[in-house]
Amino acid sequence: MHSRMLAGRTALVTGSTSGIGLGIARALAAAGANIAINGFGDRVEIDALGVELSRNYDVSVQYVGADMSQPDAIALMMRELTATLGPVDILVNNAGIQHVAPIETFPRSRWDTILAINLSAAFHTTQAVFADMKARRWGRIINIASAHGLVASPFKSAYVAAKHGLIGLTKVAALEGAEAGITANAVCPGYVWTPLVEKQIPGQARSHNMTEAEVIRNVLLVNQPTKRFATVEEVGALVTFLCSDQAQSITGAALPVDGGWTAH
Ligand code: NAD
Repeated sequence: MHSRMLAGRTALVTGSTSGIGLGIARALAAAGANIAINGFGDRVEIDALGVELSRNYDVSVQYVGADMSQPDAIALMMRELTATLGPVDILVNNAGIQHVAPIETFPRSRWDTILAINLSAAFHTTQAVFADMKARRWGRIINIASAHGLVASPFKSAYVAAKHGLIGLTKVAALEGAEAGITANAVCPGYVWTPLVEKQIPGQARSHNMTEAEVIRNVLLVNQPTKRFATVEEVGALVTFLCSDQAQSITGAALPVDGGWTAH
């Protein structure tokens, strides 16, 4: 793989103002792709991020702020993006949220929103890019699922259902795109060190009466045999590899980046 192998390609990474999505956006920009950033956050910080990426990696960067729970907003975003950065060559469906509660009390509105963002949004973006990718005979669709797309944990009904569904959608896209040079894969991280995870640790330490190191080892990483978090750089590197020509036979796969969690 040469260092600017994605020069001239356009990548949309949903939920890329933070965490894993931001790590993926950086990795794809470093490989030369023009980047559409999406997600919530402070507009000044997001604009500064865009300037940083375009200066550091000499790529075009555009912010598209659609709320991924809203199909109409997604459709508008996809049209705007094609008109400005050009057709999307690399689609990374990464935006996602979580809610933890037992089934009996799981709020119906949280179920609907999680399904909308973590699953349906990936269908809407895929539908918007698919015909163009087929016509240009090249495309990469990478869905950021989770170890929870492969196995379940209690109290995460909506998240686990959405992530299992996302792997199903990935397989269908792989089959429908196979003869047109499109690959579709799911990446399934275990616990990844992101601001979202980092912020939970002091509170968990208080409620479990543990040190922060004990919370990391005995609560968060209890199912992750390596006893370390995956990093956003590791996920970004895999996504970049999946965009390479060497990865053109990898399609329809659900690839764990979980330190052995799903080997249990
Ligand atoms: P994060 O909270 O740091 O980032 C989530 C991103 O999604 C942010 O940019 C946020 O603004 C955006 N987002 C949320 N709701 C949105 C909406 N309605 N419309 C547009 N953007 C929205 O989380 P993260 O840890 O980086 O997680 C990213 C993805 O990775 C998620 O799909 C998550 O399920 C998955 N994942 C994370 C972990 C982990 O340990 N962190 C493990 C497995 C899978």
